[in-house]
Amino acid sequence: MSFDLLGLPDSLLKAVKEQGYTEPSPIQAQAIPAILEGKDVMAAAQTGTGKTAGFTLPLLTLLEKGNRPKPNQVRALVLTPTRELAAQVHASVATYGKNMPLRSAVVFGGVKINPQMQILRQGVDVLVATPGRLIDLYNQNAVSFKQLEVLILDEADRMLDMGFIHDIKRILAVLPKQRQNLLFSATFSPDIRRLAKGLVNNPVEISV
Ligand code: AMP
Repeated sequence: MSFDLLGLPDSLLKAVKEQGYTEPSPIQAQAIPAILEGKDVMAAAQTGTGKTAGFTLPLLTLLEKGNRPKPNQVRALVLTPTRELAAQVHASVATYGKNMPLRSAVVFGGVKINPQMQILRQGVDVLVATPGRLIDLYNQNAVSFKQLEVLILDEADRMLDMGFIHDIKRILAVLPKQRQNLLFSATFSPDIRRLAKGLVNNPVEISV
């Protein structure tokens, strides 16, 4: 199978080729079409499967079409359990999206909050965040979700293991009800199934 058949724009195909990827990984071949169709997706995929490109490539494709973000607005939110993963996902977003007119940012705790508030002021298409710092920024009115279109939980099982369930629920409570939800987790444990129940609607389930 070729990347060319997945419905991605030339700007992304170019970036993918520059990375040296010749064909989509199994998770990418399944997740990319479903996400492009606007469906909710629940995917069991470990690190190393290409899951990051599996959600980032269709996400950027969808975002290229809509309205630009207004000040302090976010169009797609990626929640990750750790700073390291947040930085890594953001690096992927920046790499794949480098030929696109989209803004992205990453926020996590343990560093000054003011520079993050400055960046959010102009609005971003994609925000990658750890839950605690995102809540701090929200409480300080630095970020708003009125324009939110897509929510992604990456490594959701690790987020639950690290005790982020209450933070996640607080964030879900302030998001628009009408949105696309993508849930990525290494496994579908009973806890993940419970979280998914209140999160994804009629999801396409993928397991690799
Ligand atoms: P991930 O599972 O998202 O952490 O990605 C694991 C690694 O696979 C990363 O270094 C990616 O750059 C690489 N990768 C992602 N998609 C592909 C692909 N289709 N072909 C080859 N390598 C890929």
